Amino acid sequence: MLAQCINVNRCKPEVLQFLCRYSSPSVCCSDSDCFPGAVIEFLDPQQPVVARVGEGARLHCRFRSSGPVAFCWIRDREKVVFEGPRASVESSSSSSTLVLSKVLPVDAGRYSLFVRNRGGTAHWTASLSVIDCPDPPASCPFVSQLTCRSLVLSWSGPSFDGGSAVTAYVVERQRLDQQEPGDWTVLTDQCQNTSYRVRSGLDPQGQYRFRVRACNAVGVSDPSEESDRIKMNTAVEPQQEVTSYVDVVIDTTHKARDHYHVHEKLGMGKFGEVFRMTHKQTGRVCAGKIYRARVSRDKMAARQEIKLMNELRHSKLVQCLAAYDTPSEIVMVLEYIAGGELFERIVDENFEHTEPNSVNYMRQILEGVQYMHRKRIIHLDLKPENIVCVNGTGTLIKIIDFGLARKLEPGKHLMVFHGTPEFVAPEVINYEPVDLATDLWSIGVICYILLSGESPFQGNSDPETLALVTAAQWEFDPESFDDITDEAKDFISGLLMKDTRTRLSCEKALAHPWIALFDDSNSRSTKSLNKDKMRRFLARQKWRKTGKALLALKRMARCSKSDGTHSPIAVDELALGKEAEQAVASLEKQLLTEPRFHRALRDLTESRGATVNLACTIHGYPDPEVTWLFDEAPLEKSGRVQMSYENNGVCTLTLAHIQPGDSGIYKCCASNSLGQALCSARLTVGL
Ligand code: ATP
Ligand code: MG
Repeated sequence: MLAQCINVNRCKPEVLQFLCRYSSPSVCCSDSDCFPGAVIEFLDPQQPVVARVGEGARLHCRFRSSGPVAFCWIRDREKVVFEGPRASVESSSSSSTLVLSKVLPVDAGRYSLFVRNRGGTAHWTASLSVIDCPDPPASCPFVSQLTCRSLVLSWSGPSFDGGSAVTAYVVERQRLDQQEPGDWTVLTDQCQNTSYRVRSGLDPQGQYRFRVRACNAVGVSDPSEESDRIKMNTAVEPQQEVTSYVDVVIDTTHKARDHYHVHEKLGMGKFGEVFRMTHKQTGRVCAGKIYRARVSRDKMAARQEIKLMNELRHSKLVQCLAAYDTPSEIVMVLEYIAGGELFERIVDENFEHTEPNSVNYMRQILEGVQYMHRKRIIHLDLKPENIVCVNGTGTLIKIIDFGLARKLEPGKHLMVFHGTPEFVAPEVINYEPVDLATDLWSIGVICYILLSGESPFQGNSDPETLALVTAAQWEFDPESFDDITDEAKDFISGLLMKDTRTRLSCEKALAHPWIALFDDSNSRSTKSLNKDKMRRFLARQKWRKTGKALLALKRMARCSKSDGTHSPIAVDELALGKEAEQAVASLEKQLLTEPRFHRALRDLTESRGATVNLACTIHGYPDPEVTWLFDEAPLEKSGRVQMSYENNGVCTLTLAHIQPGDSGIYKCCASNSLGQALCSARLTVGL
């Protein structure tokens, strides 16, 4: 890379400042006024440097330049990198190396070497990324699909991946039912997902705890929080289906713990947590959704959910079996749904994911929602997390979470402002009346993701997502929908209609050819659908749920600026912060030197008529003025007498056709604002 320099002596200060700020790094000036010999040529590519936390990092830059040079290291165009206990600079007249020891994540950034010579200033920049082990997974592993010998663990990825992508998870188990807790043993160190099925080594009488670690190129994280104590479930299989529906009356005289044993946590949400519970008398397994309702508004919401659930008696909708209302909490006892979230199940390696299977799920969702809609109840929070599998083996599903559900009152408009941005319908965001059709939009989004693993409205931020939803702006990504039938696409298109009047209703959706004409024997594609995108979707959802994604996003923003693979640096990004600007400006001061002769004149003896060159090399800054004296009198240029002064400091006096009268003492006198230097030699002209 060649950096031409500005002739500072001839540029006006404003011009210089402009050029320093706005020129690209490789060319500062192409003016004819430039010193061609004063270029600074950088010899090393501006490649990113990656260092591990605690180790050392070296940013090394070699350059070619003539005359004296001064330089400084600037970080992120803002701060001067001063030498100290963790930073040192090793420099010569042709290279500079910034050595950082025991790097920390805060050391990551862009480091620029500003080099100043007598021609001007040029700079070289390289980015430093600091990578570390990931943070531990953000949640403890939750258990689902618990049987007497197997279970499925799922957890959230780390909120910061250490600057290097997570490559695998280590799942660990500890046995607890013996006298002493057992050692932690590794079940796998190569889990690629945020869920893992433990299918061997579990004793039906055993009790266990699990924890997970995340790995990246640097190493392995600390363990996540430990799961609750898990008692293998000998009673769960076969699934206890609700056979008769009960009308739940909220019990205000007992606590849930009076009637139920509370076991491990099954999940958590906005309101509180969900635990597996067993009824003390019957041994029946249930799920207890515990609202830590502290303010009356929260209690009202919990009571509203129980009231609505009392109206919902359908095999596709989770059933409420009992409820307890005490001053500290409200507990809803729900039928236990053992199979875990549908999407988690789908990404399991052993689970078949095809378009006909997807039809089966969509039909069940529609049946459950149709039942709700007949009762004029809108779910308003349909999303993949709220679709769960009845057991660990079959394909039956149920809808859960009626926390946002509302009943439409005749003649009254209902407006709501809640939901999950990716799944919410445009009318919710626009704060227009919601309708039964509002749920059908969310069903369309679920179906889109089910078939492609892509989320149709997912933007880079919630506001961006919401803007895409209100514009009803979506399309079938050709690559993701390559294997998907046209009927499926038509079905989704009928649901993702901005106008609620043209959107398919549950009845119409159930009658749509994609759903209605499905039959195991027809020729519909039974090709396995790719699960990778769905895995990424799930990882993103969990990530977001932890609410700690900010750190990582910051990192990504920083990397995308500095890794050099992105668009060229915008010109105004070269603007320096005040401290950096002052440091670069002061480089000129460091160059200031009084004139000095690096090569002195030498005595010469030549014959008459010859041409002689008396040469010396002068260094100094600002560039010294040079005068030649012959026997103390200044020499003037003429046809016979020539003087030259090159950029590399070489000064030459040329005398042609010398005569005996030219014999004598020649002096070269160099002066600048800082001082003066003299050098002399004798010329003897022979006969
Ligand atoms: P969100 O924050 O997703 O809106 P929420 O606070 O309304 O959730 P739910 O969705 O009802 O809570 O429950 C939270 C999690 O608990 C679910 O995602 C699921 O994993 C688990 N869960 C809830 N109900 C049951 C159940 N009946 N059987 C088994 N697990 C359940
Ligand atoms: Mg939920």
